[in-house]
Amino acid sequence: MGVTNTEADLVVVGAGPGGYTAAIRGAQKGLDVVLVEKERVGGVCLNHGCIPAKALIHAAGFQRDIAHWNDIGINTGVVDVDFQAIQEWKNDVIEQLDDGILQQLDYHDVEYVNGTASFLDSSTMRVEHGDDARDIAFDTAVLATGSQPIEIPGLEFDQDGVISSREVLQVDEVPDELVVVGGGYIGMEAVTKFSKFGSLIKVVEARDRVLTMFEEEIVNSIQETSEMYRDHIYTSTMAKGVEYENGRPVLVAEREGEELRLGGDYIIVAAGREAKTAYRALNLGNTAIERDDRGYIKTDRRMQTTDENVFCVGDAAGNPHLAHVAYRQGKVAAEVAAGGDDSFDGRYIPAVMYTDPEVAIVGLSETDAAEQYDGIKVGRVPFSASGRALTTNKSSGYVKVIADANEKLLGVRIVGARASDSIAEATLALEMDAHLDDIATTIHAHPTFPEAVAEAAEAAKGESIHSH
Ligand code: FAD
Repeated sequence: MGVTNTEADLVVVGAGPGGYTAAIRGAQKGLDVVLVEKERVGGVCLNHGCIPAKALIHAAGFQRDIAHWNDIGINTGVVDVDFQAIQEWKNDVIEQLDDGILQQLDYHDVEYVNGTASFLDSSTMRVEHGDDARDIAFDTAVLATGSQPIEIPGLEFDQDGVISSREVLQVDEVPDELVVVGGGYIGMEAVTKFSKFGSLIKVVEARDRVLTMFEEEIVNSIQETSEMYRDHIYTSTMAKGVEYENGRPVLVAEREGEELRLGGDYIIVAAGREAKTAYRALNLGNTAIERDDRGYIKTDRRMQTTDENVFCVGDAAGNPHLAHVAYRQGKVAAEVAAGGDDSFDGRYIPAVMYTDPEVAIVGLSETDAAEQYDGIKVGRVPFSASGRALTTNKSSGYVKVIADANEKLLGVRIVGARASDSIAEATLALEMDAHLDDIATTIHAHPTFPEAVAEAAEAAKGESIHSH
C-alpha cells in the first residue's frame, strides 16, 4: 500500500448533512479543510433518506390527489403511473442536490476525498481508498459518520427479501405487499407512499401503539383520517424471524403468545438506527474519545468530544437523528474548530413526519407542559375552519398551541397539510421566547395554512374568531 502524507487544519469524516456543513462552514471561517467520504456526498439524507423518501411521497400523493381534480371538474382521464419513470425523476433530484454540494465544496476550496477514514492517533487520520492510503496530520477533526439501520436477530439484512429503508426506496416496481417491522416515522412514511401507489402494507410494532414519539392524540388523528395508518397494524407484536413460502419471505412474529405469519414481497426492517457500526472503522481506541451510557460518542454543547481537538455531530453524536440537527451541529463544530464561540441548543427541535396529513411538533406537549407548569393555556383549532385548507381540499387535522399561565409559548402541535412548513413559525416563536400575543397580533396573509397557528394562539386566550 502506497502512503502519502499531507496536513489540514480540519478533517471532516462523512459527507452527510453534518459533515458537508461542517466542511463548508470551516472553509468559510478560513480553515484548510479535507472532507472524507467512503460512499457518496450527501450521506443518508440526500441519497437514502429524507430526499428520496419525500420525492416518492410527493409523487404518490400527487397521483392520488388527481381524484380530487376530477371532482372539481378537471377531467384527467385514467391516470397511468410509470413507477420506473418516477424513480428516475427521484434519482435526478438526488443527483441535482449532490452536484450542488460538490459545487459548493469546490467553490469553498474544500478538498473532497473518497475513502474510509480511521484514526492513527489524536492528530493523524488515515484515509484508505483501494490500495492507496493517505495520512493527514490535522489540527482539528469533525466526525459525522451518521447511523445505520439496526439489525434484528432473525431478520438480518443478508436474508433474501429482508431489506432496510434504504433499499425500499430503490425498488423498480410497486410491490403488491410489504411487511414493515417498526412503527416509527420511517415505517409510517413507507406506509404513506406505497399504500398510495396501491401496495398492501402490514406494520408490526413491538410496543402497544405505533409512533410512540408522538402523543396519542396526534396518532389517533391521523388514524381517524386515513385507514392506511389503522388497518393491518399489529401492535404488541414481536418479529422473530423469516421463513419462505413459494419463494416469498414470510415474517414470523408473536402476539399474545400466538404465532403470526405475515407474507410480503419484502420485509422492511425499520426498527431504529445505531451509530456504533460506523465507529468501528474509525479506530476510536487510538484517541481519547469516550462513549456515553447509550454507546454514543460523548460530546458537550460545543460538539467537542473528550479528545479536545475532535468534534462529533449529527446521528453519530446521538438522538434525535434528524438532518436539521446535523446541519446545526456541523455549523457549531466548525465555528468552534475555527476558534470561535458557539454552542448547540436542543430545546426547540422541530420533528416532522410526512404522513397524510403531515405531523409537525416543537416544544412541549400539553401533558409535559401540564406536569411542569401550573395553569397552562391551550388553544386548538381544526383545519376545517381554515379557508386555505378547504380551498385546497386538505381540511383534516388541527393546530394546537400550548402556553404557560403568563401566555409564554411552550409548544405547538400541527397535524395537517403543510404542517412541515408551518412549524417554522412556531419554532422561531419559541426561539424568540414569544407570547401568545406575539403570534396572535402578527398579521398573517390570508388565506394561508399558518393563519391557523395564529388562530390557535387566539384560541388559547379564549379569543378565536373562526373556531370555538
Ligand atoms: P449521514 O447522513 O448518515 O452521513 C454519514 C456519512 O458518513 C455517510 O455518507 C457515510 O458513508 C460516511 N462515513 C461513515 N463512516 C465513514 C468513514 N469511516 N470514512 C468515511 N466516510 C464515512 N431526517 C430529517 O431531518 N428529515 C427527514 O425527513 C428524514 N427522513 C429520513 C428518512 C429515512 C428513510 C431515513 C433513513 C432517515 C431520515 N432522516 C430524516 C434522518 C437523516 O437522514 C439523518 O438524520 C441525517 O442523514 C444525519 O446526517 P449525518 O451527517 O449525521 O449522517
